[in-house]
Amino acid sequence: MSKRDYYEILGVSKNATNDELKKAYRKKAIEYHPDKNPGNSEAEEKFKEAAEAYEVLSDSQKRSRYDQYGHAGMSGAAGGGFGGGMTMDDIFSNFGDIFGDFFGGGFGGGFGGRSQSRQRVARGSNLRIRVKLNLDEIVKGVEKKIKVNKQIHCETCGGSGAKDSSKMSTCSTCKGSGRVMRVTNTFLGQMQTASTCPTCNGEGQVITERCNSCGGSGLTKGEEIISIKIPAGVEEGMQLSISGKGNAAPRGGIPGDLIVLIEENEHDIFKRDGVNLLYEHSISYSDAVMGTTVEIPTLGGKARIKIPSGTQAGKLFRLRGKGFPEVNGYGKGDLIVSINIWVPGSVSKEEKKLLDEMKKQKNFIPDQDKKSKSFFDRMREYFE
Ligand SMILES: [Zn+2]
Ligand SMILES: [Zn+2]
Repeated sequence: MSKRDYYEILGVSKNATNDELKKAYRKKAIEYHPDKNPGNSEAEEKFKEAAEAYEVLSDSQKRSRYDQYGHAGMSGAAGGGFGGGMTMDDIFSNFGDIFGDFFGGGFGGGFGGRSQSRQRVARGSNLRIRVKLNLDEIVKGVEKKIKVNKQIHCETCGGSGAKDSSKMSTCSTCKGSGRVMRVTNTFLGQMQTASTCPTCNGEGQVITERCNSCGGSGLTKGEEIISIKIPAGVEEGMQLSISGKGNAAPRGGIPGDLIVLIEENEHDIFKRDGVNLLYEHSISYSDAVMGTTVEIPTLGGKARIKIPSGTQAGKLFRLRGKGFPEVNGYGKGDLIVSINIWVPGSVSKEEKKLLDEMKKQKNFIPDQDKKSKSFFDRMREYFE
């Protein structure tokens, strides 16, 4: 289903001012507000649609991108995290202040927080670390034990923040529900709205005497040794997210995530190119002429390659499956060996004599009509 034009959704012209946009959005939001249309999914869709249109058009950067490229300019990262559409909670948290001024202020972000009759649960923040890996570790996957400095639960109070369990009591404002309801008279008539209890911040419980060690936060600085399983084939810049291993949350909340950023150490002899591994091997001039068998290092082993007689410099050999596995996939990359012919930088008198002798022989005179494959042909061979 194709998306409707944002201007059309709000019923404004292409050159509407910000004030006109805001007015138009307010009108739609009131018309389709879920509290006015309980159980009406069509109204909810319209409400979301209007919020999306306003989100884009009220932001001058997004608006000019939309004017230029239409909906195509809004997808993915360019849309500023807009890809999957907004949930009702997003709408209320993004535009809470606007809803606030619609109704004369007073309950800002609390307006219509519908799905939140439950208590609000505290959440710990995410923690980011970098992990440096060698190619040998990446090719097989590795488990790393890493000491992470993070917020942990206060040992004295077990994370409750209270001096002891008798110093915690049910919030008298909200009777433990974490929400307060209020009836407001608006120009639309009476509206009942729920908002986060201001006394307990939605937690339903209050501390009557704070823990001395953590001052009531329930958290303290500490460290944890975390074992991180890194799958084979990861690449520089990839991120792994380990749920629940970030900073602890106070008072029984949900801990944040640990975000692991992968970094790659350079290898002494190999270069990585995606799933493939590149390696250059030098052979002597006489081996290039007569052919030989050489031993090649691989990540975690050795392999042998037969070099046929008459091998030119730059010839590529592909060792299938000796590269990296695809992360979360099947199949493996290859080890690509490029052959270099070793040319000595200096020679002895005796060696020079041999070379002079060789030079005169008919087969050692280069045949300009019979060139080896060009550089471009070899590259094509590699990418096939
Ligand atoms: Zn404490
Ligand atoms: Zn409360």
